[in-house]
Amino acid sequence: MRAAMADAEVGDDVYGEDPTTKRLEKSCAERLGLEAGLFVASGTQSNLAALLTHCGRGDEYIAGQDAHTYRFEGGGGAAFGGIQPQPLPFQPDGTLDLDDVEAAVKPDDYHFAKTRLLCLENTQGGRPIGPGYFDRAKALANRYGLRLHLDGARLFNAAVALAIDVDGITRYCDSVSVCLSKGLGAPVGSVLCGDSDFIVAARRWRKVLGGGMRQCGILAAAGLYALEHNVERLADDHRRARELADGLRAAGIAADQRTNMVYVDGIESARMRAHMATGGVRVSGPRWVVHLDIDDGDLRHIVDTAAGLSG
Ligand SMILES: *Cc1c(COP(=O)(O)O)cnc(C)c1O
Repeated sequence: MRAAMADAEVGDDVYGEDPTTKRLEKSCAERLGLEAGLFVASGTQSNLAALLTHCGRGDEYIAGQDAHTYRFEGGGGAAFGGIQPQPLPFQPDGTLDLDDVEAAVKPDDYHFAKTRLLCLENTQGGRPIGPGYFDRAKALANRYGLRLHLDGARLFNAAVALAIDVDGITRYCDSVSVCLSKGLGAPVGSVLCGDSDFIVAARRWRKVLGGGMRQCGILAAAGLYALEHNVERLADDHRRARELADGLRAAGIAADQRTNMVYVDGIESARMRAHMATGGVRVSGPRWVVHLDIDDGDLRHIVDTAAGLSG
């Protein structure tokens, strides 16, 4: 990946002259079966550009109570766009109940914000959500004239876990954000995809948000490398996460695996943190994420260290 970055052909992307960035945008959009793509600095910038493109002041988007777009992005839609969120609880499978969504859509009445957008997430907290749900969500969105945005920061994890192509899911979405910098292992960057008109408008918002980058082909080359080399191997992360959860459970620690994440429970966290630190393992919280820099040896070391805790 570093070699691909060093070799990247570059130009000024603010003027649309960076060939590597254009190649990444095209390649990502093609994989997702959407018309066009936009390389952005982060998943947060991507979701915010999507919100600002789909919604105006006084418009509303529906999202999960714990959705990244609502909970973990600093309220950007409200701060920069005057866009009102309508959060709803996630179901245990990571979906929003479509009856809840339908009930939350506001009538066309000037007492209410205008509901414009349904935001979904896949994977949600590591849970992969299959095409059937997106088919139903899209039908509902169409019925009420809503657009459908997918925060697919970890979409490739979902596709690999479900053994389908990503476009089996993205075909139901008007816009999709994917992170290159999570399980795919690029140092930085996300791609926002949608139809050509949407991407033209989102490109304008990206500039407004300070996200017009110059010779960013160096970064885009890492993203292209990640898409070419690091998608199928996500299955290894999922396998290791399963082994990690099994190992923790064997050591008497409650653990729940979802794709590349393990939710660790049942041990008072300060005690666990101190114990794991003795083995050189830094624990920041109950969600442990397996990624391409964790190999089988690392995994054994983590399980062995945790096993010492239960005694
Ligand atoms: C990480 C993540 C984001 C945001 O990505 P950043 O690049 O960290 O801004 C958005 N949504 C989900 C589901 C994520 O996991």
